[in-house]
Amino acid sequence: METQEARTPSNFLRDIIAEDVRTKKFGDSQIQTRFPPEPNGYLHIGHAKAICLDFGLADEFGGKTNLRFDDTNPEKEEQEYVDSIQADVRWLGFDWERLCYASDYFPQLYAWAIKLIEAGKAYVDDLTADQIRQYRGTLTEPGKNSPFRDRSVEENLDLFTRMKAGEFPDGTRVLRAKIDMASPNLNMRDPVMYRILHASHHRTGDEWCIYPMYDYAHGQSDSIENVTHSMCTLEFTDHQPLYRWFIDNLGIFPSQQIEFDRLNITYTLLSKRKLLQLVQEHHVHGWDDPRMPTLSAFRRRGFTPEAIRNFVGATGVSRTNGSTDIEMLEHFQRDDLNRRASRAMAVLNPLKLVIDNYPAGQTEFVEVANNPEDPAAGTRQVPFSGEIFIEEDDFREVPPPKYYRLSPGKEVRLRNAYFITAHSVVKDAAGNIVEVHCTYDPASRGGNSPDGRKVKSTMHWVSAAHALTAEVRLYDKLFTKPDPNDYPEGGSFLDNLNPNSLEVISDAKLEPSLATAQPGQPFQFERVGYFTPDPDSTSEKKIFNRTLPLKDAWAKIEKKAGA
Ligand code: ATP
Ligand code: MG
Repeated sequence: METQEARTPSNFLRDIIAEDVRTKKFGDSQIQTRFPPEPNGYLHIGHAKAICLDFGLADEFGGKTNLRFDDTNPEKEEQEYVDSIQADVRWLGFDWERLCYASDYFPQLYAWAIKLIEAGKAYVDDLTADQIRQYRGTLTEPGKNSPFRDRSVEENLDLFTRMKAGEFPDGTRVLRAKIDMASPNLNMRDPVMYRILHASHHRTGDEWCIYPMYDYAHGQSDSIENVTHSMCTLEFTDHQPLYRWFIDNLGIFPSQQIEFDRLNITYTLLSKRKLLQLVQEHHVHGWDDPRMPTLSAFRRRGFTPEAIRNFVGATGVSRTNGSTDIEMLEHFQRDDLNRRASRAMAVLNPLKLVIDNYPAGQTEFVEVANNPEDPAAGTRQVPFSGEIFIEEDDFREVPPPKYYRLSPGKEVRLRNAYFITAHSVVKDAAGNIVEVHCTYDPASRGGNSPDGRKVKSTMHWVSAAHALTAEVRLYDKLFTKPDPNDYPEGGSFLDNLNPNSLEVISDAKLEPSLATAQPGQPFQFERVGYFTPDPDSTSEKKIFNRTLPLKDAWAKIEKKAGA
């Protein structure tokens, strides 16, 4: 217990639960939480924070967590989202006690609405949506009572039953709670409980043509499931009095709502509405496009659930909204991948290197450690021959100052193989270098010269005859601004899309061992970055996604020099 506390920083949510456990606020009930996504989009990394809190805190106190779909809005909800949400919660490492749907509670919610009508606490209103808005008043002016507010219980029961029976068209009537049109809290000014919507629901079909509003469904769903702590984001703070009003006036299990801050990340949008727009308008290739902030996109890109959980945990919880740097997420991911990724050699922008004194037609194998951070990962044999590929960037005919890589007359190390010295180049008609010729020192096998000669640079390489040609997808930030919602008047967040967020390299040269790599398997392409195979790969064409680049010290030097 002590070590557990030492590892996890404390937070006010944990403190509240611990205190409620100590005072037995919920009697002998176990701690019960829920994660309540609306199935109208894919889960994103903001949801990961809510998931880690809902599941993590219940778990710490020996409690349970339900996955509950808040499916009260038939027009935007789909089975595809229901399925993806379950897969993503599991991928993140959590399992629910019960799988629930707010729609399962429609009959109970309806019975409770009848109860409130009978108690004179709810009424059917014939005002239009616009009129209701006008009557509601503003933050500075109280609202006005609807002329239908004082209908008799009998008339309300009759109209509400007929609403349910489908007698009235959409939008003609609503059921409202009778609370206080002068309340300083706008949510308490006779909020709408039910609206008429002749729409098919993904689970209940055409059984219902009236649907409960979020505020009328959420607290009662919590109560039905004996949820002790209903954690949600800060925008629901003003709804808390209404959440309690329904529970108190129905006399049901007193679930308690507690609010915490939303996760916001720089260069990232976490609004499902806007993410849906990106998908529908084809600014990205779907919800799991690796540039998206959804959990399925992170998975496809090669992020790991461990890194996401560690990141989310480190951002903590607060009572005010803030913003977290994307670099922090990347840091947690690099840290995780550095430990678990197998090393491999891959040349993204190949330049042919011919070793003139290497025996023609010969192939040999060099032994390479799979992961220097993990000896248990073993070694593998990598083929080497007289024609290899190196990165275009690793050779300069005329080297700039401080350039230690290959140039004519310069000796460098080919990783795990030999020392080589460049001598000449072959150019095409346009003057581009197409081949570099060099000689190697056979005594330096394994990458060290017996005479103790030092070289300043070690380069990765792939044997030309053995190379696997693959497509490599390099991702950059989807937006150019830290706050994608920062745009001039009349503009849109789409103006901040990064036109270079995806670069596709169609003929990278990879070491042959990568032919059997599977999606999700993490690799560090030495000196280049972290990668994982994309599920679009076929047996003819392997595709790799760049999870993250390694930090590039050279790019910084070049930038500083203004090159
Ligand atoms: P959006 O407003 O973009 O549609 P939402 O909050 O309505 O998102 P839900 O499916 O209702 O999405 O969210 C399920 C749970 O996840 C809620 O409890 C919500 O508070 C929480 N959540 C959503 N976004 C974040 C976020 N950025 N940070 C932390 N928790 C979040
Ligand atoms: Mg919501």
